[in-house]
Amino acid sequence: MPWPKAWESPEPRSSYDVVIVGGGGHGLATAYYLAKNHGITNVAVIEKSYIGSGNVGRNTTLIRSNYMIGGNTAFFEHSLKLWEGLSHELNFNCMVSQRGQIVLAVSPVQMDVFARRGNTMRLNGIDAELLDAGEVRKLLPYLDWSKDARWPIHGAIMQPRAGTVRHDAVAWGYARAASALGVHIIENCEVTGFVIENGTCSGVETSRGRINAGKVGIAVAGHTSHVARMAGLKLPVESHILQAFVTEPIKPIVDNVISWGAELFYLSQSDKGGLVFGGHIDGFNTYTQRGQFNRIQTVAECAVSLMPFISRLRLLRHWGGIQDMTPDGSPFICRTPTRNLYLNGGWCYQGFKATPASGWTFSHTIAHDQEHELVRDFALDRFEKGRELDEFGLGNWTYKQ
Ligand SMILES: Cc1cc2nc3c(=O)[nH]c(=O)nc-3n(C[C@H](O)[C@H](O)[C@H](O)COP(=O)(O)OP(=O)(O)OC[C@H]3O[C@@H](n4cnc5c(N)ncnc54)[C@H](O)[C@@H]3O)c2cc1C
Repeated sequence: MPWPKAWESPEPRSSYDVVIVGGGGHGLATAYYLAKNHGITNVAVIEKSYIGSGNVGRNTTLIRSNYMIGGNTAFFEHSLKLWEGLSHELNFNCMVSQRGQIVLAVSPVQMDVFARRGNTMRLNGIDAELLDAGEVRKLLPYLDWSKDARWPIHGAIMQPRAGTVRHDAVAWGYARAASALGVHIIENCEVTGFVIENGTCSGVETSRGRINAGKVGIAVAGHTSHVARMAGLKLPVESHILQAFVTEPIKPIVDNVISWGAELFYLSQSDKGGLVFGGHIDGFNTYTQRGQFNRIQTVAECAVSLMPFISRLRLLRHWGGIQDMTPDGSPFICRTPTRNLYLNGGWCYQGFKATPASGWTFSHTIAHDQEHELVRDFALDRFEKGRELDEFGLGNWTYKQ
């Protein structure tokens, strides 16, 4: 017997209580929690392509909550707690693997910085362990421990509850669960404009006609400034490309997620055996999803410096996704100056791990027309008020370039 369809593909109604623009992880999670937590089921998710075609299916699947700045810590820890129960919640195996993330220190100063971060995390109830070089060597004997290593390893900070989640399963799981609660998932339907009169949003124009809505939420990840501009909003967001890489499969060797403090570089091993890794954004504004060779070179250099054996492996694939970068590296989940129009975006490097908490808090913000307490610091006006959430190393760094 053929498998049943995971979610329905209904014709769009002329009107919904809530329309969510964008069927990525954040849009789908928002629709699910609108129905589940707030009893609002007359909801449509409007996706211009197919479910999973955006960054939710392009990321490197890393989840963690090793944040330090108030405003970020509680939000990302809430997300990690939701990840821990997500397969059960959605009745869909999301392959949540809490294999631990180890961030390597390449100088004594970095160890001091990690000690401060770890202490802050623990004070906030988040798990963190400081490892000396000997302890790291026991866990990761295959790193370059030679005397002439380009970046000698001094120790690490570990978050044991961090790990990976199968990204496609997250999109499919939320889509199936939202659809089962009555949410309409409308694929291949592009939002081309917003219906705004007297400062109030009452619907969207789409490639399949106008759809009226009591409230509209934008959750379009790498297209936030483009879509928000249709509603007359100019955002402090730059769109950049971020690449990811996977090698040919090898036997299990990398048990954890490893990040590196010498450059932005991180690596894990997929269940199929490929080493999955990535680094920085390419560093210029673009909407193409193709990466540049200079970034491939930098990332490959990082990989080989860290684990010399990688030079013997063939790179199977690399791909890119568009990331919306804010100046302080932190996102927006908030109301907008237009009534009944809500914004979710600017996720920089951290949108996948945020998915459950983003849906949880964005649905609350829409349902109550009031920001959830966990996202009060993710407002649009934080730059004019001088309340940036500058968790170092996450933003587009325009002011440092
Ligand atoms: C290579 C790479 C690696 C990454 N690795 C990680 C990681 O390890 N951990 C982590 O936390 N984050 C990571 N990220 C970031 C993370 O993937 C994103 O921040 C997150 O997925 C964005 O949210 P989303 O899932 O809703 O986005 P998307 O899946 O991109 O969803 C947005 C949707 O909006 C749709 N859309 C756009 N415009 C319109 C329109 N006009 N009308 C209708 N629909 C529209 C798009 O088609 C898209 O499907 C990575 C990103 C990339 C590119």
